[in-house]
Amino acid sequence: MLYDAIIAGLGPAGATVSYELAKKGLNVLAFDKEKFPRYKVCGGCISLKAKQILPFDFDEIVEEKIYGAVFTYKSKRPVSIISKQVIGYNINREKFDNLLKEKAKGAGAVIKEGVRVTGAEECSEHVVIKTSDGFFKAKVLVAADGANSIISKNLLKLDSAEYAVAVEAEIPVEKERLSRLKERIFIDFGCVPYGYAWVFPKSNSLSVGIAALSKKVNGKIKEYFREFAHKEKILMGIDIAKMYGWTIPYFNAAQKIAKGRILAVGDAADLVDPFLGEGIYYAIKSGQLAAQVISAKIGDEKIEIEDYNRIVEAEIYPELEAAGKVGNWVYKYPRLWYRILESEPALMEKYYSVIRGEGSYKEFYETVMSKIKKRPWRLITRLIKGHLTSQDLRG
Ligand SMILES: Cc1cc2nc3c(=O)[nH]c(=O)nc-3n(C[C@H](O)[C@H](O)[C@H](O)COP(=O)(O)OP(=O)(O)OC[C@H]3O[C@@H](n4cnc5c(N)ncnc54)[C@H](O)[C@@H]3O)c2cc1C
Repeated sequence: MLYDAIIAGLGPAGATVSYELAKKGLNVLAFDKEKFPRYKVCGGCISLKAKQILPFDFDEIVEEKIYGAVFTYKSKRPVSIISKQVIGYNINREKFDNLLKEKAKGAGAVIKEGVRVTGAEECSEHVVIKTSDGFFKAKVLVAADGANSIISKNLLKLDSAEYAVAVEAEIPVEKERLSRLKERIFIDFGCVPYGYAWVFPKSNSLSVGIAALSKKVNGKIKEYFREFAHKEKILMGIDIAKMYGWTIPYFNAAQKIAKGRILAVGDAADLVDPFLGEGIYYAIKSGQLAAQVISAKIGDEKIEIEDYNRIVEAEIYPELEAAGKVGNWVYKYPRLWYRILESEPALMEKYYSVIRGEGSYKEFYETVMSKIKKRPWRLITRLIKGHLTSQDLRG
């Protein structure tokens, strides 16, 4: 049987492509190596802008609505910036991914769980996909197999040289502790070079994690995690027995994520925000764009699968590029960044508008830069001349 599309991986990116294509009446087969519901290393915070582009709601699985954050620097100097409007939702990835997979199934996609895609070969008229359950044929293959995508690496030849290292733990906690952490997330800067730590409250647990955008931290990330967990007041008395490491393939430079009859979405295409580490929104967004291109191609419109490169370049890359500039600056100069955040809390309201999808990273970056220009001239001159020492800025 020749499928219109085969999707490798059923995280938010693969489930979205499967759902969108099946809804349009295409013949879709999707594989995941795991059986759902399955654990996924993730903080599980979904931005309002991600919720807004999903074609269905997920209210029944929301664990906590988020209105803002308490920021700290090395677990000290707390600044609480809480908005009147919601900025995001804490969810549990087991439930969220299962819901998305069920939506795809409900729309008519054929789902095979516990089947691993091991390779593929492209011919002129179709792609042959090799799996642990045999060979399958499709007009288009979608790589949605996450951060360690074998399809992106072997067939699209993507160079995922830049990635963040991360560690996360889901810790069951008592109601009393959770009641003190309602409707906000906790973000600490300065606890790890080139990164941050988080505590995201869920209905019965906390997602605690740390991520760093530098491979220099590789091998030491668990140490930083333990140090943060030990210092952080809201984790006082909690014993973290189990933690999970993973990588975050953040956006670094534009790449050709579609070639011939194969294209990549989500983490498999390195579509993760290099400042915040937000990937779920970009997984859904790229999944939707991929589905538009595939259905147009199957419908014989004048479009090629490779046009997906141009569309992603126009619709996703500009935001990720601007997020990269913010990340570069903040993680290079965390102490200066924190001083600005402390003295200008309204700046974070501006950032919340980016998370809500009302503002852009480009605007936010420009605002941050204008605040820096207003700092004492001596600091700026030294910053521009590159004379600021790590002592001055990193603390
Ligand atoms: C510690 C950590 C915290 C994070 N926190 C957040 C957060 O709070 N908010 C946010 O927006 N983003 C967060 N992210 C990023 C987010 O998890 C990812 O960007 C997102 O999951 C990408 O979705 P995806 O569908 O592309 O990939 P994934 O969710 O990784 O899904 C890939 C799927 O492919 C399957 N698969 C893999 N290989 C194969 C194969 N060979 N054959 C078949 N199936 C295969 C896997 O089992 C998996 O189900 C975090 C990431 C990490 C590591």
